[in-house]
Amino acid sequence: MGGGTKQRRRHVSVGLRVLVVDDQAATRRSIKAALEGLGHDLREATDGEVALDLIRRLHPHVVLLDVRMPVMDGLTALREIVADPVIGQTPVVMLTKQADPEDVAEALDIGAYDYLRKPFEPVELRARVAAAGRLGLLLAQLRDANAELQMAATTDQLTGLANRRQVDRAMRDSADPSLAVVMADVDHFKQVNDTWGHPTGDAVLRTVASRLRRSLRTEDVIGRWGGEEFLIMLPGAGGDDALEVCERLLDAVRAPLMIDDGPEQVTVSLGVAARSTLAEDVEDLLRRADEALYRAKADGRDRVAVA
Ligand code: GH3
Ligand code: MG
Ligand code: MG
Repeated sequence: MGGGTKQRRRHVSVGLRVLVVDDQAATRRSIKAALEGLGHDLREATDGEVALDLIRRLHPHVVLLDVRMPVMDGLTALREIVADPVIGQTPVVMLTKQADPEDVAEALDIGAYDYLRKPFEPVELRARVAAAGRLGLLLAQLRDANAELQMAATTDQLTGLANRRQVDRAMRDSADPSLAVVMADVDHFKQVNDTWGHPTGDAVLRTVASRLRRSLRTEDVIGRWGGEEFLIMLPGAGGDDALEVCERLLDAVRAPLMIDDGPEQVTVSLGVAARSTLAEDVEDLLRRADEALYRAKADGRDRVAVA
């Protein structure tokens, strides 16, 4: 029976990041000793303030948090952790003195995951860390999955630029009174596909995208608006500045292509519109840029037209 009991224990022994927060070196030492050999990555802090900073930077799977500490006590630190939208779900195991049931009740009420009374049994500490660690690992997975989803929801897969939804949001969020927008469309792109095939067409789009991106300042925004159309936001560039940028974009795209079994050159046409008043609708601004682009096409392509 004894062996059976052992087997039923489900200690998570794979590298948990555990933050131990206690002002007493002796307590930290005994926690370390109890968790020895389980492959955890142990970090230490001696007060709540330092702990908060470490939690924000390291995202530990489990925090062991003492209640009584100088500078910032454990319950204050716990309140700050719980109120933080990024680290608020971190499983915190409170370390309380034997004689303080009020501390336990308050900690759980604030949002602690669990508690452990000092002095503790090493086997119990390991089990509580393992239990909290299961939740901590799940949260870490959730955070990674969210970051991936966020990336997928805002990025264009082919070019790596912002997708339409993302530039559209950036446009709507912009309160820049001298914003200029540029609508760019690859010239005769259908011919590229027809002559060289769709995969080469994709490679051309990727090259055009990175040439446009590289010709812009970091504060400019570029996204893929549609098939072979790109939208560029130039903050603070109303008027002549925008035209200068456009000439640079035309030059960059016009340069010889080095794509195997592909066209030697492609060009783009650009339509630019500067915000007339802050009150102007995003739709109106885009419509004017689109009309200008249409004129650039009609006037012979590989050029810019201004709304
Ligand atoms: P214009 O100079 O008037 O813009 O002519 P165009 O041929 O570029 O314009 P049109 O709108 O007729 O053709 C655009 C083509 O772009 C048609 C479509 O198949 C192609 N396209 C759209 N998205 C992609 C893509 O992701 N990859 C590839 N390879 N082609 C695409
Ligand atoms: Mg088009
Ligand atoms: Mg086109």
